[in-house]
Amino acid sequence: MAEIWTVVDHSGGEPSKVSLQMVTAGRKLAEQMGHDLAGIFLGTGWETAKEKLAKHALPKAYVFESQDFEDYLVQPAIDAIVKLAQEHQPAAILFASVPLGKDLASGVAAKLESGGLADVTDIEVDGDRLTCRMDVFGGATITKCQVVGDPQVICVKPNAFVAQEAAADLAEERIEAEITDDAKAARIVERVQEEAGGRPSVEEAAIIVSGGRGLGGPEHFSLVEELADVLGAGVGASRAAVDAGWYPHQNQVGQTGKTVSPQLYIAVGISGAIQHRAGMQTSKTIVAINKDAEAPIFNLSDFGVVGDLFEVLPKLTEELKKRKGG
Ligand code: FAD
Repeated sequence: MAEIWTVVDHSGGEPSKVSLQMVTAGRKLAEQMGHDLAGIFLGTGWETAKEKLAKHALPKAYVFESQDFEDYLVQPAIDAIVKLAQEHQPAAILFASVPLGKDLASGVAAKLESGGLADVTDIEVDGDRLTCRMDVFGGATITKCQVVGDPQVICVKPNAFVAQEAAADLAEERIEAEITDDAKAARIVERVQEEAGGRPSVEEAAIIVSGGRGLGGPEHFSLVEELADVLGAGVGASRAAVDAGWYPHQNQVGQTGKTVSPQLYIAVGISGAIQHRAGMQTSKTIVAINKDAEAPIFNLSDFGVVGDLFEVLPKLTEELKKRKGG
């Protein structure tokens, strides 16, 4: 039986959220297509990864456990995946649509003379093809595309799917990769861990509360942060707020910031300019709080509150705290 593969995005064996979301998505696709699902793990820390992946019902994994995948750029991993794909002929390979995943996917698709799609936010089965949704041209156009070559290489955007826990025995097949000197041509000499802070990053967060120019100053971002903390959310910002120096650039959402697809996006004091929408319009549920009933953000919102954020936010945060019993 053909397989669908999901390449585990991880840090030292700790799978990223999108990795677990891809397992759930992959399981459903494999079921619908009558295929098996298998994970591909490259790097170190397999035992940690295995525990989490098994809890999400990954039935099988090909494990390349070697420090070399951590020490060199993507070529050793591309070579390993390509060789395995030539042997097993998987129907599709899912990668995380993050910089490293996209780098790997493009190398694998090129070497296998297949085709690849990035920033995919939804996948439907159409016979033996996967129809993928992508938002392009700054989010102004929604496209549905299929890879015509094989295997279908697809990069799944974080939070496009919800990870669901389910029990399964994970069978592992250990593979010794032969890494050529050519593949080791570029070595990583240093890694610097970005300050994580206490909140999830906007790329990882399932809920994001974003603040814009309507906040009126950096000190009022505390209102956004308080709401975010009650919800366990990440904090985003519009470019206007970032350019004014109110919030760090790493939190900017939009065309020149991060592209996010959380389950819930709450836009506070953000007008909804096309460049902002480009980064968040694939969010599953969008809530806007804005005092201007004509603000364009309401055109793409599922729920809208027309009101002064300085009145609405404290009340909303307080009510949520009460409901959570805190
Ligand atoms: P504004 O447009 O000024 O909106 C503020 C909103 O707050 C208004 O709707 C107002 O009604 C509301 N408001 C004010 N006071 C209150 C209150 N008390 N209570 C409730 N609501 C209130 N923008 C991005 O966000 N991300 C990007 O990545 C990005 N990239 C860009 C790239 C290019 C090439 C260009 C040209 C622009 C880009 N922009 C980007 C900028 C974008 O065009 C907008 O200028 C920006 O998004 C506006 O930010 P804002 O919504 O916070 O501010």
